[in-house]
Amino acid sequence: MKVLKFGGTSVGSAARMKDVAKLICDGEQKIVVLSAMSGTTNSLVEISDYFYKNNTAGALERINTLEQKYVDVIAELYATDTYKTEATKVIKSHFEYLRSFSKSVFTLFEEKAILAEGELLSTNMFQLYLLEQGQNSELLPALEFMRIDKNSEPDTAYIAENLEKFLIEQPGKTYYITQGYICRNFYGEIDNLQRGGSDYTASLIGAAIKADEIQIWTDIDGMHNNDPRYVEKTTPVPFLHFEEAAELAYFGAKILHPTCILPAKLNNIPVRLLNTMEPDAPGTLISMQSKKGTIQAVAAKDGITAIKIKSGRMLLAHGFLRKVFEIFESYQTSIDMITTSEVGVSVTIDNTKRLDEILNSLKKLGTVTVDTDMVIICVVGDLPAENVGFQAKAVNSMKEIPVRMISYGGSNYNISFLIKSEDKKRALNALSQGLFN
Ligand code: ADP
Ligand code: ASP
Ligand code: MG
Repeated sequence: MKVLKFGGTSVGSAARMKDVAKLICDGEQKIVVLSAMSGTTNSLVEISDYFYKNNTAGALERINTLEQKYVDVIAELYATDTYKTEATKVIKSHFEYLRSFSKSVFTLFEEKAILAEGELLSTNMFQLYLLEQGQNSELLPALEFMRIDKNSEPDTAYIAENLEKFLIEQPGKTYYITQGYICRNFYGEIDNLQRGGSDYTASLIGAAIKADEIQIWTDIDGMHNNDPRYVEKTTPVPFLHFEEAAELAYFGAKILHPTCILPAKLNNIPVRLLNTMEPDAPGTLISMQSKKGTIQAVAAKDGITAIKIKSGRMLLAHGFLRKVFEIFESYQTSIDMITTSEVGVSVTIDNTKRLDEILNSLKKLGTVTVDTDMVIICVVGDLPAENVGFQAKAVNSMKEIPVRMISYGGSNYNISFLIKSEDKKRALNALSQGLFN
């Protein structure tokens, strides 16, 4: 069985939902994961924000605007009054639920319940549309089988066991429709897999059922060799190794959620990136195969903070790096990039929640300097040391850009540069020019 995930734009209007239905209804049994309609999760974040600020009027106004959008979609999506009435009943109950938060205390728990509504709405509407079309489909309730543990990691055994239970209870269905992104946590509360997490749902389900293939359908024809939001004339990369795709996703290629490659890689399930608007385009196939000796793509990760710790005593001092890393560990902050010299070490982090505490502790070890608003530019491909010359090509492409750190050798799949965010667009374009032209 295959797992197909359709993102927000792919289900962003009545017309798009109809296209998705056409795409999936080929008689082959499959699990279909849907995101919320595009814009909905952002609206739900805003609504929560109003509730946090005790601005009930603001929240209710945003809820009404969002509801009107769904009323319009219903008018266009269904052909019969029976299904229009049924769908109206469904969305009414969801919007009443959203309004009910004006009467309660508002905490993170309530916010997560609100954020889950987008995927519940899109899947319920889509399932009704399939039924109206006479398709043999069934909803799988993600909140009953997707679960994360105490460390917010997916509980893969629980997911596999409970998903199978639902599949066995509903045998003989051709299309199983389920919600991306949403889950329950260790305490049984409604939670989520972080923004963009529907990709992760798809790969976790793929791993749980040992799928033949996981397909991520979106609004572009595969992973491009550079970020199309900053660089013109990017082109799709036909084949990527799991490691290459994971690096690109982690380092900012928004087309994939950073964690979604791992479950597929562990189970050796190919991941195909495809375009809903152009279903016949080949897209990108991510698998164990790599294209030997090639630089494949470039990505950029924003919001990076660089910290340099200089110690006069580092000369021959063993144990210095351990002390530095222990500080980051004790504040549960992971390090992305690291470079060292005899006198100091530079690291980057993207989570600055505990930055002040980290800096206070680091200052006991040496002189500390901090650069905020930095970007990691990541050049990805099959880059073993024997493939002489690719470093020169990458560095040479960056010759006009002030580079704060360079890192290679952590894997055979990437070289990373740390630069200021103001230089990001220039750097991405320079790399496209130097590497792919
Ligand atoms: P979805 O809502 O379907 O999950 P996303 O917006 O999360 O879609 O991801 C698709 C978008 O990712 C594209 O529209 C594109 O702008 C952006 N993107 C960033 N980097 C890349 C890249 N290297 N290749 C393709 N798309 C990319
Ligand atoms: N709807 C969620 C979001 O917008 C999850 C997703 O689309 O993947 O972040
Ligand atoms: Mg996405």
